[in-house]
Amino acid sequence: MTGITSTCVYCGSSDKVKESYRQAATELGRKLAERKIELVYGGGRVGLMGLVADGVIQNGGQVYGVIPRFLDNLEVAHEGVTELVLTENMHERKMLMAERADSFIVLPGGLGTLDETFEILTWKQLRLHDKPVVILNVDGYWDALVELIHNQINENFAKPANLDLFSVVNTVDEALEALEKSPTPTHEIASKWT
Ligand code: AMP
Repeated sequence: MTGITSTCVYCGSSDKVKESYRQAATELGRKLAERKIELVYGGGRVGLMGLVADGVIQNGGQVYGVIPRFLDNLEVAHEGVTELVLTENMHERKMLMAERADSFIVLPGGLGTLDETFEILTWKQLRLHDKPVVILNVDGYWDALVELIHNQINENFAKPANLDLFSVVNTVDEALEALEKSPTPTHEIASKWT
């Protein structure tokens, strides 16, 4: 096991998604708690976000939520989290989440999830951090994303080495194994560069 003690989970805020995505979110929360890995996330109680947090809380784990004040009403902050931080804006929220976690797991999600995922990957591409990023490809949800990145490489908009910035797995157990096998991160995101 490496020194991973916390993971930031990026995932959808929609409640209308299919059961396999919901189950993966709950299972991930439970298994993070069992492994004593702190959950860092967007602080809401809706969609997969709420399910991951519930999974951790119901199994005695630690949850660090970060939500901007203006979203507090929309996403409805989760009242059961261990620590909830209110930020002034989205940038501050994403920075705090990225600083607090020493790894990232991406569950299925929408535009917000894509924004967060690409931000953390581009920061890694620029060597602003070296934290592991694991894409949890539940039911092939992220196949199209992986294909898009391959297309960027084929068309020379990205380097083949960009594929080393993240790993893609199919199950929650594989995601946690991928974190365990990752080298311990050596450098922190420096907010002065972002
Ligand atoms: P979504 O994947 O769109 O359901 O959003 C998942 C998370 O991303 C939620 O916590 C949203 O608050 C957040 N989010 C939504 N839109 C954006 C955005 N434009 N930039 C950054 N985060 C966002």
